[in-house]
Amino acid sequence: MSHPAASVPAVTIRVPAKVNVQLAVGPPRADGYHDLANVFLAVGLQDRVTARPADRLSITCAGPGSSLVPLDGSNLAARAAELLAAHTGRGSADVHLHIDKDIPVAGGMAGGSADAAAALLACDELWGTRTPREELLELAGRLGSDVPFALVGGAALGRGRGELLTPLPVGGTFHWVFALADGGLSTPEVYRECDRLRGDAPVPAPEPAPALLAALRDGDAYALAAALSNDLQPAAVSLRPALEDVLEAGNAAGALAGLVSGSGPTCAFLAPDAPTAARIATVLEGSGTCRAARATTSPAPGAGVLTISGA
Ligand code: ATP
Repeated sequence: MSHPAASVPAVTIRVPAKVNVQLAVGPPRADGYHDLANVFLAVGLQDRVTARPADRLSITCAGPGSSLVPLDGSNLAARAAELLAAHTGRGSADVHLHIDKDIPVAGGMAGGSADAAAALLACDELWGTRTPREELLELAGRLGSDVPFALVGGAALGRGRGELLTPLPVGGTFHWVFALADGGLSTPEVYRECDRLRGDAPVPAPEPAPALLAALRDGDAYALAAALSNDLQPAAVSLRPALEDVLEAGNAAGALAGLVSGSGPTCAFLAPDAPTAARIATVLEGSGTCRAARATTSPAPGAGVLTISGA
């Protein structure tokens, strides 16, 4: 028997992208990861993940770059559903997940991690498993270093490989422009290039910069611009030299500062206010240095329920 669409239970979660306003990378550890001092800021670019009951786990994806997103068990959202099903004793992850992508794929903005966080919440809601927050955060950390932050949102300091989070106060709204690139960069490759460029040079233990934490707390865009830093930027630029042109174009258009977002190739520009951000986005779009440019704000909330229907 078929059901009217409105009676099909569906849970939609919206989840933010992140920009690293500081990414300090230590030397490689024995397990291959790097110790980080990683200051995450959630921004207004969002994916949406909708969970519906299904006979077995399946994934669909729409939006820019969706052809690059795997639709099999390697999708981070699928892995999240399976992990939650195992953790709650449900056995099989009998769910269909639809991902509406707006976060650039392989763009250094943790889109896959965001989808994993959204899938954890969506399935928990759909299945009524009411997993305690602490357990969801622990499962998120098992899925990937950036997944817990997508649940928490706002701003946070990530230590360890980035997954040990301390929330940070933010005293105002920051205006950003993101220059989206054609094609992605592989995060492991960017870390390898970072190690290669450093060679045998001594690498200090990564520490958060006090001036940066103060700028966030004060909501001071000028101070934040002066303190932005990303140890992965030289590696991303080495692998994709055209990023120099993007950074130059954004700075010339009036940004307070620009940097590569995480492992790139997205570039992030801090603007003093919303009208300037809109202008920078227009100039960047006309510059031919990027696929598109998007103005948005931070901080943004962590993953949360957008709609629940037919439950
Ligand atoms: P990060 O900033 O966390 O290093 P990223 O933003 O650079 O990550 P993602 O968009 O998370 O990159 O994608 C990295 C790779 O992960 C993709 O190339 C894709 O093969 C794979 N992937 C798995 N699941 C997803 C998903 N749900 N969305 C996007 N990519 C996914």
